[in-house]
Amino acid sequence: MNAQAPAPAPVRTTCPYCGVGCGLRVEPGAKATATVVGDPTHPANFGRICSKGATLGETISLEGRLLYPQIRQGDVMVRAPWSTALDSVADGFKRIIERDGPDAVAFYLSGQLLTEDYYVANKLMKGFIGSGNVDTNSRLCMASSVAGHRRAFGADTVPGSYSDLDGADLIVLIGSNTAWCHPVLFQRMTRSRQDRSTRIVVIDPRRTATCEEADLFLPIAPGTDTVLFSGLLVYLAETLALGFEFIDRHTSGFESALVRAREIAPSISAVAQRCGVAEEDVRRFFDWFATTEHAVTCYSQGVNQSAQGTDKVNAIINCHLATGRIGKPGMGPLSLTGQPNAMGGREVGGLANQLAAHMNFTAVDIDRVGRFWNAPRMAEREGKKAVAMFEAIARGEIKALWVMATNPAMSLPKAGAVREALKKLELLVISENVEANDTVAAGAHVLLPAAAWGEKDGTVTNSERRISRQRTFLPLPGEARPDWWIVNEVARRMGFAEAFAYRNAADIFREHAALSAFENNGTRDFDIGALASLTDAEFEAMAPVQWPAPAGAPPRATGDKRFFATGQFFTPDRKARFIAPEAPFLREETDVTFPLRLNTGRVRDQWHSMTRSGRSPRLAAHVPEPFVEVHPQDAITAGLVDNGFARVATAHGVCVLKVVVSDGQQPGSLFAPIHWSDATASSARIGELVSPQTDPYSGQPEAKATPATIAAVDFPLRGFIRARRMPELPRGTWWTRMATAAGSELRIATDRDLMAWQEFAHDVLARDGELVEFVEPTLYRAAIFTDGEFEACLSVGIGDGALRWDTLNAVIAAGPPSDTGARAPVLLAPEAPDAGPIVCACFGVGADAICDAVRAGATSPADIGRTLAAGTNCGSCLPELKRLVARTRARAAA
Ligand code: SF4
Repeated sequence: MNAQAPAPAPVRTTCPYCGVGCGLRVEPGAKATATVVGDPTHPANFGRICSKGATLGETISLEGRLLYPQIRQGDVMVRAPWSTALDSVADGFKRIIERDGPDAVAFYLSGQLLTEDYYVANKLMKGFIGSGNVDTNSRLCMASSVAGHRRAFGADTVPGSYSDLDGADLIVLIGSNTAWCHPVLFQRMTRSRQDRSTRIVVIDPRRTATCEEADLFLPIAPGTDTVLFSGLLVYLAETLALGFEFIDRHTSGFESALVRAREIAPSISAVAQRCGVAEEDVRRFFDWFATTEHAVTCYSQGVNQSAQGTDKVNAIINCHLATGRIGKPGMGPLSLTGQPNAMGGREVGGLANQLAAHMNFTAVDIDRVGRFWNAPRMAEREGKKAVAMFEAIARGEIKALWVMATNPAMSLPKAGAVREALKKLELLVISENVEANDTVAAGAHVLLPAAAWGEKDGTVTNSERRISRQRTFLPLPGEARPDWWIVNEVARRMGFAEAFAYRNAADIFREHAALSAFENNGTRDFDIGALASLTDAEFEAMAPVQWPAPAGAPPRATGDKRFFATGQFFTPDRKARFIAPEAPFLREETDVTFPLRLNTGRVRDQWHSMTRSGRSPRLAAHVPEPFVEVHPQDAITAGLVDNGFARVATAHGVCVLKVVVSDGQQPGSLFAPIHWSDATASSARIGELVSPQTDPYSGQPEAKATPATIAAVDFPLRGFIRARRMPELPRGTWWTRMATAAGSELRIATDRDLMAWQEFAHDVLARDGELVEFVEPTLYRAAIFTDGEFEACLSVGIGDGALRWDTLNAVIAAGPPSDTGARAPVLLAPEAPDAGPIVCACFGVGADAICDAVRAGATSPADIGRTLAAGTNCGSCLPELKRLVARTRARAAA
């Protein structure tokens, strides 16, 4: 009998992108691919995934990976054995600490790290080096929510669960483009809208894809969130829609918060005027909130990324405390975290103002953690938060920095200044997946190859406090190692071998769980003591578990846990605190030089600096180029045209971006996405433009309202280059790199004429190769072959025609002059007719094809799904489909 070995079971793991924390099933395939589907048993997503999760299998190649340790020698990085690299890090940190003290060194971590990585890094710095200087890129994402929770609840506690969205009759989304940034949760919300007529209110200065499902959209003026929610608190009081018993028994500070709210927002008309929205819409929102018991308010970066972000969070929480709508099914405030493990970082104390296991820098907590760790040198005060940390580097106060899994020279405010600051460091250590990024380019002294998603093993926590396993399904490439292992080895070399004797991620997780339960007795929210004695095998098999999970209370795999339905907050008197916010204002005023406000954010199909999502051709097709969105009036004023180019400047930097004219923008506001870096575009590092103003409580920067100006840039020619080895482009060429099925290509825009590009093709691209040309008055195309093999191609012309492939395909297909036979390398695969910007990433369906289908009779996204399949897989594009269908039908009817 010819018995076949059974196919290996799919590996259950967790998505490495957003804070929804979707469970996945992964089957590795041939040639660096994998099949990725949603895990139907995971309570965060029940099998659903979005376009980013669905294309993860396209992102696991080793192209551009950092595979070996490197040490700087002179001006170059050279390969080094692990032992040499680790000695160099440990010796460098020891030398600087002995000479300048522990606060002269710092770690800058990432919400991409696993909890176990975070735990050992935090333990080394806060317990053994003796400094609080551990901060994380999560500071840029949700630090204001942390600070707001701690002020109101006495602890960084997310009170509710995702299942509250299933039972809500009103969902308020403020500062959250949920449709694009948390797509699977958004689908859960829209299902509630379909199934139980849940109303959705969207509050945002920008009309985003999320608004397509809104019953009410409030396009508030930037920075007025606290005005709106102060007005709501006043309305709740005046209409007696208060939870009087809850306020009396479980809270303090209501009266003073209400007095302040009345000062900020004395009437509905005052709110409407200040927020810039219609009075009747404000009244409708207030009425819906006042009369709907099951109300959930979700908020995200639009609230957090503000110099008054903490006050905004507390203004929202005030309204839930005032109505007692917290901690019960179907109601409560719900912070949506951006990153996959921002919550895990919070749990272990990965923020400079936290200790570990949700403990603080109090004498009691410092002593407790010190005894648990048997730590020789506990940090005694908070460390520097992200922006302050890099300012201290610029001043020369911090001399050694270890950056793990993040790219601060691209993502922090005033990114150009951050890059200059990094050059001053005596020791810059970077643990990374990729060989090159903006931070590496600033001048690393040691590069350490870290394991990536699929290669590493540990846990992450999502926005509803659910801890899930990330599991290995790929071998470690080259000499890459897990981040926890790298920190462990450095700690051992610094003399702390006994405290850093971890054999695997399970060892670290058990210690983390034990610390959470240590002398806890219900006094701290974060308690996962029930998981402190898992065996290695149990850790390997661990199902998703939501905390709290104290010892003696067996964790339920799918049951939902909530906090505060009956009070029991984590303040000294166990009462929640109402917070009276400051009068709302934006820190930086617009003026004649910078008359507009720049808002920043994400697009649907990219993630952070695109090191992973940027590898997927399907994702790249959705928004292939960095852009700035501008209102039609401002476009006219600045002489901008849709699909043209603009120079966006602030007091801190300049970028050159494609122009998207959209009435979804408010007049006076601009929007630009954060994803492009110097590795992926010529001039689109948005962090460089952003104001460094920070919130006094959270330290989170104001990334949504930087004063800016915009001016047209004329690039009459557009085109693209594909090449086996990308050439250096002529000075002044605008470019952006995008993934395609045939490898990456550079899209270019230029004011050089066709003759100059013909010379470039001859002198630079062709060199020793054979060149085939196609010349028209407004278009130049060339294909270059070396030894009969495709080497490069260039297409450039007036307008967007050069971006189409058909003619160039014919040129390439004809082959080099000496070979007229048909060629069929992968680059020559016939291109589908241009379908316009891709809307459905799963099936590659473009906007033009969708509009054609509507003109041919489709009247709904369901019709589009039947004819083109768009929207029938992950569903991420449904809001855009809905908008396109509506607009096309409206235009046809006009
Ligand atoms: Fe990943 Fe998408 Fe789920 Fe977020 S919503 S965790 S990006 S699959």
